[in-house]
Amino acid sequence: MSVPVTVEDVNHYFGEGEARKRVLDGVSCEIRAGEIVILTGPSGSGKTTLLTLIGALRSAQEGSVEVLGHQLRGASTQTLTEVRKGIGYIFQLHNLLDCLTTTQNVEMALQLQDIPRIERRERANAMLASVGLGEKVDENPSRMSGGQKQRVAIARALVNEPQLILADEPTASLDKKSGRDVVELMQQLAREKRVSVVLVTHDNRILDVADRIIHLEDGALRSFSDAVVSNTEHMMNLLANQTRKEDLFETIERMSEEQFFPLLEQLTHDSRQLLEVTRLSANEAFESMLEQALDAFTHKIAQILDADRATLFLLDRERNELWSKAAKDAEGNSFTIRIPRDRGIVGAAVEGRSTIHVPDAYADPRFDQATDRETGYRTRNILCIPLINQDGEVFGAAQLLNKAAGNDFEDSDEGRFGDLMHSMGVILEAWRAMTEHRHGSG
Ligand code: ADP
Ligand code: MG
Repeated sequence: MSVPVTVEDVNHYFGEGEARKRVLDGVSCEIRAGEIVILTGPSGSGKTTLLTLIGALRSAQEGSVEVLGHQLRGASTQTLTEVRKGIGYIFQLHNLLDCLTTTQNVEMALQLQDIPRIERRERANAMLASVGLGEKVDENPSRMSGGQKQRVAIARALVNEPQLILADEPTASLDKKSGRDVVELMQQLAREKRVSVVLVTHDNRILDVADRIIHLEDGALRSFSDAVVSNTEHMMNLLANQTRKEDLFETIERMSEEQFFPLLEQLTHDSRQLLEVTRLSANEAFESMLEQALDAFTHKIAQILDADRATLFLLDRERNELWSKAAKDAEGNSFTIRIPRDRGIVGAAVEGRSTIHVPDAYADPRFDQATDRETGYRTRNILCIPLINQDGEVFGAAQLLNKAAGNDFEDSDEGRFGDLMHSMGVILEAWRAMTEHRHGSG
């Protein structure tokens, strides 16, 4: 089954007559196999209602809800029961029975099935071990912490090997650390067993576990711009946490490579999500944050590769120019360079779609000395690579100038530079999409 959940044009109402209220309004979405989707939205926006419809816990009134191969609207009780067997549920209140041990609580989920008692016990214990509670099988839930109880609830939801997990605010009653542990555990299990997960939360700190974020507002999947704001908030929090409000540029400069790479990876992941919800959206706060990050990251890459400086150029298709905002003059002040798209070493890399290594800039007729004259900088050698997006289009170039200590760039620099810029590609693309939109050239 390729698509475990397909919801189409679903409306849902509570109440009768005058009091009848529409709580879901034309909702359509898909959850693909192995995907972790976070459903966010303010309280009362209809998240739980949507989740219980998908979970076959409430009957669909209007529209189509197809789950694990069955149409739930108008489905028989047997069908609903059948579908429920393929779903693991995790709720805010874990609903563990205090009169049973943790193993017995987990085993309960297997009782509907025709499984011998011994095997039930073994599977329950194995599942508890995989959520890190192997030592607690005979413990009584009342003696456990909130995080541990929620892990028991996860074990219970997973012991049936469901294809779909529905979790409603599973971290709401947990502190930050236990909440994080619980979602990371769900993420790990989802990856291992290729289970799809729909996770309702308004905890911004866990949004990054999602492959995709969908938003409900007043019962409707909400607009792109709202989605962007929410993603932006998340990315800003991420950077704010990473930098502890110090200057981003300096913090990144001081980072070890071991610290830098996960940050780059995280921001890439978030940018990809952002790009998915909206290719073109205007949000100046986000744009300026991305710009700062790019500036700092570019500088970091120069540092890693022992180059004196690094510059990014983006292609402005409308004006047929390459431009760079992040260029720095001899005093370290930023200024914008604009050059025709086929001029200079950068132009050659973009036009030829290939890496260009220039060991001696002033001996290369393609090198334009004008910028050096303007800035008082003396370019010796250059390594320049084209930036190519997911559609295979060149959208700019990245350039390294002057390898340190009078040396020249080596083949190994070329490879590493390419890899690093590739990691930054998505961030760059998100930024380019935004600046293009803001400058109205779409
Ligand atoms: P969320 O989970 O996003 O907070 P819900 O899906 O629980 O939102 O609720 C959506 C709206 O439907 C709210 O206005 C809520 O008061 C209303 N609602 C939820 N369940 C019921 C019910 N059983 N009867 C009447 N109204 C309900
Ligand atoms: Mg709810």
